[in-house]
Amino acid sequence: MAHKYAGGCDHIHTHSEHDPIDNHTCHCSVCKSVTGQPTTHVAFFKHSDVVVDKPGSLKRQPFNAKNPNGPLELCTCAECGTPIMLDDKQSRIRVIVPNLMGYADSFPAPAYHAFYDPATGVPKPSDGRPVHDALRPDFVWPQPN
Ligand SMILES: [Zn+2]
Ligand SMILES: [Zn+2]
Repeated sequence: MAHKYAGGCDHIHTHSEHDPIDNHTCHCSVCKSVTGQPTTHVAFFKHSDVVVDKPGSLKRQPFNAKNPNGPLELCTCAECGTPIMLDDKQSRIRVIVPNLMGYADSFPAPAYHAFYDPATGVPKPSDGRPVHDALRPDFVWPQPN
């Protein structure tokens, strides 16, 4: 059966039948160092919306190596090393980076820029999408499920 959104690697598959609750281009330093990309397309889903077929095959490590007790864990495939998702220890969200986590190019485009910091020297994005120095101000973290 075709899922609305599906990704993963050859060993572990993820999918969601629901739209992301937040979809942005992230400028933060943690995404930069983890992905090696100057900016990262990041989609937040409600935790219960992202289904993982083999959660036992995930290798978990802190998303932010400098903050190992932070809530987000980077989950990679124990077999091939592909990043699968970020999992929230507080079970509020699961995060997908579509281009690195096996999602289709048709994934909805990010709606805004998050964590833009002029101090980095990077020019302010001028593609017309809103630019924020954090998540969009009206973003509300879902309740843990
Ligand atoms: Zn980031
Ligand atoms: Zn794999």
